[in-house]
Amino acid sequence: MWECPLCNRIFKNNHQSHFCADKSVGDFLTGKSDSSLALFDYFISKFEEIGPIKLYATKSMVVIAADIGFAYVINLGKSFVDVVLPFKELHEDNLCFRKMALVPGSNDYNHHLRIMYKEDINEEVFEFMKKAYAKGKNV
Ligand SMILES: [Zn+2]
Repeated sequence: MWECPLCNRIFKNNHQSHFCADKSVGDFLTGKSDSSLALFDYFISKFEEIGPIKLYATKSMVVIAADIGFAYVINLGKSFVDVVLPFKELHEDNLCFRKMALVPGSNDYNHHLRIMYKEDINEEVFEFMKKAYAKGKNV
C-alpha cells in the first residue's frame, strides 16, 4: 500500500502513476472499489489526451475543469462510474447517454453517462468529451 503524499490517494503499488489532484479528490475516492477507480483513472486519462485539466471535489462530486468546470463525476459505484456532461443544447441523437435533462433554472442540459467498461468510452463518447472540454475552455 502506498499513500500519495500530495493527494492522499491510496494505491496498491508504490508510486503508481495517477492524475494527482488536490486532497479533496483523494478524500472523495477513499473507499471506492478497485474497478471503479480503474474506470475513473481511465476516464481522466482520456480527458488528458484532449488537453490540460484540473480536478477538484465537492462533497458530492469530482469536478473536471479546464478554465472552468465542464464535466462532473457524480458517483463511483462498485463497478461503474457515473458522469454528467452539461451542454447548452440537447443531444438527443446519441447511443451513450442514459438520461438527459434540463438543469432547473439554467440553460444547460445534463447528459448522464454510466461507464461500466473501458470500452464504454468509445468514439462517440470521446467526441462528446471533446465537446464538453471545449466548453470548459470557453470563458
Ligand atoms: Zn497523488
